[in-house]
Amino acid sequence: MSGTAKAVVLAIVAVLVAGVAAVGVVWSLNQPDESTDAASASAPAVTGRPTPTTAPRSVSAVNLSDADRATLTENEILLHNPLYSAGQVAAAECSSLPTARLATERAMIRYASAFVECLNRAWAPLIKRSGFKFTPPGAVHSAPTGSDSACGVMDKDVGAFYCDVDQGIYFNWPDYQVEESYWQEAGRVSVQYLMAHEYGHHVQWLTDLADGYNSRWGAATGTAARLREEDRNEMQAHCFAAAFFGANQKTLRLHGEQLAHYGHPGFQRTEVGDNFGSWLRQGFRARGPSACNTWAVPWTKVKFT
Ligand SMILES: [Zn+2]
Repeated sequence: MSGTAKAVVLAIVAVLVAGVAAVGVVWSLNQPDESTDAASASAPAVTGRPTPTTAPRSVSAVNLSDADRATLTENEILLHNPLYSAGQVAAAECSSLPTARLATERAMIRYASAFVECLNRAWAPLIKRSGFKFTPPGAVHSAPTGSDSACGVMDKDVGAFYCDVDQGIYFNWPDYQVEESYWQEAGRVSVQYLMAHEYGHHVQWLTDLADGYNSRWGAATGTAARLREEDRNEMQAHCFAAAFFGANQKTLRLHGEQLAHYGHPGFQRTEVGDNFGSWLRQGFRARGPSACNTWAVPWTKVKFT
């Protein structure tokens, strides 16, 4: 791939389109064998959005300690990433999350940031076991529609995105603001899922999966081919989120209807294949990335529609 092409694909802004309005979507983790309507009620709309704003991060930045592993090509890093065989996400201490109502900017950012700290504790041991260096993501930024970032302007209806350039999580918090007491739990669940998904993109960045994706996206010819790579990338972040929740079901005291909310809230695309539910259940059960190799299966297994 040319340097130019690489620059074009570098600054991945993995966008999660989401909204509290869709928290009623049911992904039945309690009924893992039910494969019927897990994905019919809402629409996954996550799209990787490569933006040509920065110079490419060097592929030689593969930061594995093992020299042999460092010789993996970008495609191999997707297919055979050591993360897949490093075990489960840790059960983290997440019991001290803020309890303030999610009704103000301050409360939203505080809650999301605290949840990211919980994600740090859960993922760090696994990242290190995989041979990669762990660094936490950048801050959770208040990013209402129209606000700017190193990865571009926050679009309307985008719930959040992860920015490769500064590793920040940009949170369009007004979309998740909830005043009513009745909706507080659902609101928290949505923010949790949103952060866990964006954190999945940070995991991809830490483990050079993002480099591999950038490479494949850049090499893909045409919109359809690129969308297929985006589907793989998004489904993997989705699966990583599910793995985190599987490993932390007890620590987060997830049960009953709470679990039913752990779908991808508010996907933009109008139809969702059962693939989405399958990866959710798979990651949740495995409690780790072993179930999340979305690069080694036919595209029909990862497509959203
Ligand atoms: Zn995403």
